[in-house]
Parts: sequence; C-alpha cells; structure tokens
Amino acid sequence: MRLSNGEVLFTWPLAAHTITAGWYYSDGKLHRAIDLRAAVGTPVYAAEDGTVDWVQAWDGHSTSGDQSYGNLVRIRHADYNGGKLQTLYAHLQRVTVKNGQAVREGEVIGYSGNTGNSTGPHLHFEVRLAGTRYNPLNWLDSDFDVASDSVRLGSFTSVVRPAEDSREYVYGIDVSRYQGDVDWAQVAASGVKFALLRAGSQNSGGPYIDPYFEQNYAGAKAAGIAVGAYIYTYAETEAEQNDEILTILPSLEGKTFEYPVFVDVEDKSLTSIGKAALTQLVKRYMDIIDQKGFVPGWYSYTNYINSYLCPEALADYPLWVADYRSSLGYTGDYHIWQYSSKGTVPGISGAVDLNRDYHHYIASTGAPAEEQPATPELHKLSISLPGADADKAAEIIRKAADLGLAPDVTVETLPASAGDIKTLTEMADAAGGVAAKV
Ligand SMILES: [Zn+2]
Repeated sequence: MRLSNGEVLFTWPLAAHTITAGWYYSDGKLHRAIDLRAAVGTPVYAAEDGTVDWVQAWDGHSTSGDQSYGNLVRIRHADYNGGKLQTLYAHLQRVTVKNGQAVREGEVIGYSGNTGNSTGPHLHFEVRLAGTRYNPLNWLDSDFDVASDSVRLGSFTSVVRPAEDSREYVYGIDVSRYQGDVDWAQVAASGVKFALLRAGSQNSGGPYIDPYFEQNYAGAKAAGIAVGAYIYTYAETEAEQNDEILTILPSLEGKTFEYPVFVDVEDKSLTSIGKAALTQLVKRYMDIIDQKGFVPGWYSYTNYINSYLCPEALADYPLWVADYRSSLGYTGDYHIWQYSSKGTVPGISGAVDLNRDYHHYIASTGAPAEEQPATPELHKLSISLPGADADKAAEIIRKAADLGLAPDVTVETLPASAGDIKTLTEMADAAGGVAAKV
C-alpha cells in the first residue's frame, strides 16, 4: 500500500515471516532477495495491488538462467518515484494467476514450492525498481524473525506501519437480498447501530428493486437501527441511469434515512467508459437523488476510485469506501469505511459486510460486537488427495494438528472452524486434491 508520505509498504507474501537467507547468503555471496521459510503448498500473497506481468512455468529440470526461478510470478505495481516497481515470487509449486491479470494486495497468487534452482521448499521474494534489485526489507515492516544467527540481512530500513486508527466510530453493516431473512432484533442486540440497505440494482432483465429492501427497512427500523440505502449501478449512459432511477427511487419515497443514499459504483463493466465520463455519471446520479430530497453519497473501493474515477470531482459528496486491508489505503476524505466483507453478526446467516462510520451520522458509538471473541462454528472436513504423495498428506495432517484439531486426525474427516477449513482446503487444493465440508 502507499502511505500518506508516499512510501511503499508491501504486505508480507506469506502468513509467517521467517527469513532463511537475506540480502547476502550466509557465505557472503550476494543473494539480492530474501528467502522465506515455507512448506510446499503454503499460500503466497501479492505484496501490493498490481498487474501480473510475467508468469514462468518451470521446465521440470533446468536450474540456470530464468529457469533457476522455477515456477515464477512477477507483479508490476504502481510506479515508485517514476520507476517501474516489481515483485517476484519464485520456486512456486503452483501458480494461480495469469499474465496480465490484475491482483489485489493480499490476494493468493500461487503456492510455495521447491522448483528451479532450489535445494528445499521456500519462497524467494525479490523487489526490482527500474530494473534494479533492492533489499526487499526496505519495503516491508519489521515484523519478521530470522531462522538462525548465520542469516545475513544486509543493510535496510524497515517501513514503519502506520498506527491503528483510534478515532471513535459508529459500528454498522450493509445488507442485500444475498443475506436473505435477517433477525433484526438479534442484529441490534449484538451492537449494530446502523445498516445500509441495498434498494436495487440491475440484471439482464433491467433495473429492479431489491426483493428484501422493504422487509429490511421495516425490520431495521423496528429494531431501532438507523438506516441508509444504496443502489448498485450498472448504468453506462444517462438513459440507462434514468431507467435505474425511475425503477428504484420510488421505493425510497415515504421512508426516513439517517444515512445517505449511496450510488454504488464498483462494477468492472463501467470501467471502459473512461474516468471523466464515469465520474460525471456518478455526479449526475447523486444530483438527482439530492433533487428527490435525499442526502446522496457514493460508494467504491480504493483501487477502483484511484483507477477509474476522479475523486476530486466528487469531493463535495460523502464517500463510503471499501478497503479490506488492516488499514485503509485510500488517502482522500471519506465518511464511512467498509473494512470487511467477512463479518459474522448474530441474526444473519453467512458473511456480512462491516462498516465504521467516522462521520457520526448518529450520536451513538457503543461496543462493536465484532470485538467480542466469537466461538467458531465447527464443521467436518473431508480431504481426498488422489495422486498426491504421502509427504503432502502428512503435511496436511500436521497442519491440522498445528491448528489444534484432534491429534489423531485422519485425512478423511476432521472437525474444523471456517478459518481452518480455508487453510486446509488451500493446502489440499495445492496438493492436487479436494477438500469438502461434510
Ligand atoms: Zn532466494
């Protein structure tokens, strides 16, 4: 992510950060990268938003030249000080992205392995600026350890991670028909103070009112939860926008909103319109919402705003911004931060978006329910590994044990939380097998 001072702070490409070789190898030879400890099949994450600009498949035997990297992904990030900035992830077991693909910071791009010129499983992570390799530790925070005293890190300055935002906020959610029936009394009891309700969107049949909008509005209001609304737009022209407005806005009439009515502009289909034209359309939408007597606002996510909109032209309108990283990467003004899409809230089945209102549309703050430890829901997980070798199976069993699951687990079924299932499923997937909840 780009910090407000212009520095780059990369996300660590692995969940665990133990360095086995630094800028120099332990014999003093230049390495010009870092190696991180990683068992075969460990998920590897993009260090920052960017575009994959090189995927190399290992030929299975070569250990010199480009093939020394084995299976490789290279990502090009936004330029830094006018120079091309790239990160490389080498010796992978498997790659899950394609050349030219846009990736988000923290997204899985492949699984670590032992391919190319590699004598044991690890991840080789390299940073290039304007074609020159730099010590990656200049682009990462200081949250790492070293595998042994013989690791030689070279000289570097760690990036200081910005302090957690300690401002007070109002805690809320947003819902649409995808959440189905919501028990609003339970939602309110869990500490949720506001809810942004999807009023409508568009599909192949044209614009429509969200079939749960009326019942969500009635339920939230009855439970004492403040509400706002949003429209997920697909309108590429003023005529299509008029269609959406004529269909959806009547559903807002007669209702009272404590929060704005947001135009949700995030669909990829809109990006070909061009920055200026799309920005103008969003502004027009909000001006019409305003004329209808509602407070208008706009919603999008950091990378979309920076790539496809002119935020300075929308600065007079409240922004509700989505960014699921640990700190918000958007540097402009905003009112509400949607910080997670994977929240768990009593009264709602499945995942729900979580929000922080820093503008304080309502006075209350209250203790957010998400800060109370949740009891994970347990499932049985079945893993089968056709063709996978015994080492990989053993590794998955070991990982299950690491996660605190029964030490005598078999690969067939084991009790696991949703997070454990995600980890084990990714490992099974990387090993060429499948994992399924049973
Ligand atoms: Zn290396």
